[in-house]
Amino acid sequence: MPGAEIWVGVTTPGTELPERATRIEQALRRDGLRVVEATSYDDDVLLRVHDPRLVEHLRTVWSRWVEAGFPVEPGQDRVVPYIMPTAGMLDGLPEREPTAVHAAAGRYCYDTMTLVGPGTWQAARAAVDVTLSAVDLVTGGEPLAYALVRPPGHHVTRAAYGGSCYLNNAGIAAQALRDAGHERVAVVDVDAHHGNGTQALFYDRADVLYASLHVDPGAGWFPHYAGFADETGRGAGLGANLNVPLAEGTPDAPWLAALDRIVEAVAAHGATALVVSLGVDAAAADPESPLQVTHDGYEAAGRRLAALGLPTVAVQEGGYHLDTLGDLVARTLHGLADR
Ligand SMILES: [Zn+2]
Repeated sequence: MPGAEIWVGVTTPGTELPERATRIEQALRRDGLRVVEATSYDDDVLLRVHDPRLVEHLRTVWSRWVEAGFPVEPGQDRVVPYIMPTAGMLDGLPEREPTAVHAAAGRYCYDTMTLVGPGTWQAARAAVDVTLSAVDLVTGGEPLAYALVRPPGHHVTRAAYGGSCYLNNAGIAAQALRDAGHERVAVVDVDAHHGNGTQALFYDRADVLYASLHVDPGAGWFPHYAGFADETGRGAGLGANLNVPLAEGTPDAPWLAALDRIVEAVAAHGATALVVSLGVDAAAADPESPLQVTHDGYEAAGRRLAALGLPTVAVQEGGYHLDTLGDLVARTLHGLADR
């Protein structure tokens, strides 16, 4: 697991904890939801969504870090980027594969918060299996399946990870639904933060609509560089991307009004299947976001999305307040199941 985060150079306790999944599972079992164990999948869909070099990096970087001795000298037991080959640094030069593992650490990771430790790869790869298992339930006829996964995924682009995410589960779900025969798929992202990774994956494509409501990155919130309203897609994908940035402190009514715009866009897109990036960190109690959505707000959101009448795969994203996130997820699923 990542173990910690390094934020503005300071080591802070991680918020993306294993206990998040335990708390959600407890709430769902309490509510009597049917629990299905995941099965294993090969890398087929994973490698069509992500650059094979990113996948190989994540699979091997921890053992390379250990072999290089970093946990002993200088005593860093997590993979932490130290140099990042930004577009400004390279100024058009080719992005080479660095020899040193400590240089490679920043080749595929774009922040210092998303550390790799023992088990990180296994957890991220297992989340892909859980997601694909949920997709199979839905393509097999279930109207709704929810993938209880961590780490989350919506900040991962085709070739770069960050934002406490390593592999883009929602993007993989959307691609798998396309492969299963859905000509048009929509991803609706209700996490408090913009899913810059999912947006990037489908930015040039007309077949997958990405739509998100989130705290305004222009007001100083992660991911800072993406999530603005004027990002509407590119080339064939023009018009298939919708961002609704919201002011800090936004409560239920305007949050749900933003979601109504998104629901309209999904219907207009002609999607026949829906992926919900289900982050519950827009809730009032969450330590990672300034939005003020209530439990009732999340359930209402689920109900509005259910009204689309589409087969739906919900994938867990953020949500960090341990005492409330289980109920928030349960209430949202309750709304999503109301069809
Ligand atoms: Zn978030």
